[in-house]
Amino acid sequence: MEFEKLIRDVPDFPKQGIIFKDITTLLQDGEAFHRAMNLIMKKYLDAAIDKVVGIEARGFILGGVLAYKLSCGFVPARKPGKLPSRTIREEYVLEYGSNVLEIHHDSIRKGDKVLIVDDLLATGGTALATAKLVEKLGGEVVAIQFLIELGFLHGRDKLLKYPLHSLIVF
Ligand code: AMP
Repeated sequence: MEFEKLIRDVPDFPKQGIIFKDITTLLQDGEAFHRAMNLIMKKYLDAAIDKVVGIEARGFILGGVLAYKLSCGFVPARKPGKLPSRTIREEYVLEYGSNVLEIHHDSIRKGDKVLIVDDLLATGGTALATAKLVEKLGGEVVAIQFLIELGFLHGRDKLLKYPLHSLIVF
C-alpha cells in the first residue's frame, strides 16, 4: 500500500514556509489506518514493551492503538500544564519554535521497556526530549517509531543511540 499518497501536504501551516504533513487523510481511510498500525505493531510483538509513550497530540492517536495491540500501558508526553499530577519536564526545539514536554513522575518504572511514538520526525528535538524524560525515570527506550520521517532534515542524526523506524520517508 502506498501510504505516502494518503498524506496531505498543507503549505504555510502553521507558519509561512512550513509544508505541514497532514495525517488525517490517512487516519480517515479505515483500511489504510488499520494496515499501517498492523505493520508497525508487528515489529514490536516480541519486544516485551511495558509502556508506549505517545507525544501530544497526534502521537496519542497512534500510541493508543499500539498500546492496545501490544497489551501494554500508555503514557502521554504532554505540553506544559496539561497533566494534572506531579510531572518532570524537558525543554526542546521544534522545526517551528521551541517548547517543553512533561510526563507524570510516576508514569514509568525503573527498567520499563518503552516504545516512543509520534506522527512525524522533523529535526528530532521532540523525540529526543521524550527519550530523555523516559531515561530520567529509569526507563529503557527500546525504539522510537514514527509514521512519517522528513529525511532531508536529518532528525535521525540526533537519535543515533536509539533504534528508529518510520513507515513513510519523504
Ligand atoms: P521535531 O522535533 O523537529 O522532530 O518536530 C516533530 C514534531 O513537530 C512532531 O510532533 C510533529 O507532529 C511536528 N511537526 C514538525 N514538522 C512538521 C511538519 N512539517 N508537518 C507536520 N508536523 C510537523
